[in-house]
Amino acid sequence: SALEEALLAAIRTIPDYPRPGILFRDITTLLGNARAFRRAVDELVHPYAGSKIDKIAGIEARGFILGGAVAHQLSAGFIPIRKKGKLPHETVRVAYSLEYGLDEMEMHVDAVSAGEKVILVDDLIATGGTAEAAVRLLRQMGAEIVAACFVIDLPDLGGRARLEALGVEVRTLIA
Ligand code: 5GP
Repeated sequence: SALEEALLAAIRTIPDYPRPGILFRDITTLLGNARAFRRAVDELVHPYAGSKIDKIAGIEARGFILGGAVAHQLSAGFIPIRKKGKLPHETVRVAYSLEYGLDEMEMHVDAVSAGEKVILVDDLIATGGTAEAAVRLLRQMGAEIVAACFVIDLPDLGGRARLEALGVEVRTLIA
């Protein structure tokens, strides 16, 4: 579609970052392009305009930028999901596996209340491991995950199927 083409054109691809053989999709060029940034946020928001969404949960760090804009548009609150050790108050944590080894992410224990409707936002879904950990964290506190939304899907890595297997609706703008 025209939208996909416009967004794709605004994303920069960096070969061999952060390691040799990896093609990194750099969205800072999209964020710096006023029209592309607005179109991406409008498109993420569009299906939920008029529905009551309590909170947007954004995954550090690029999910904060997109999720903050989406939260504002939907008049929702914002929940930062962070790498361990960054949040000042009592947290709940979840471990998840990376390509090499384990990492942990956390959010404040009082960031979400049972029954609140939450949309998870990040820039990109690859294997889905990061988003799955965030879903587990939010559900542990009783949140209802309305959807998980990403600008970019890397379909070969299976992240969408992984989230759908958990009963999460997945929306992505470009593959
Ligand atoms: P996953 O856990 O789905 O394998 O990886 C997704 C997470 O890693 C997201 O938080 C995303 O921001 C980051 N990520 C992995 N590869 C890329 C990439 O090529 N570009 C960007 N912008 N983020 C990536």
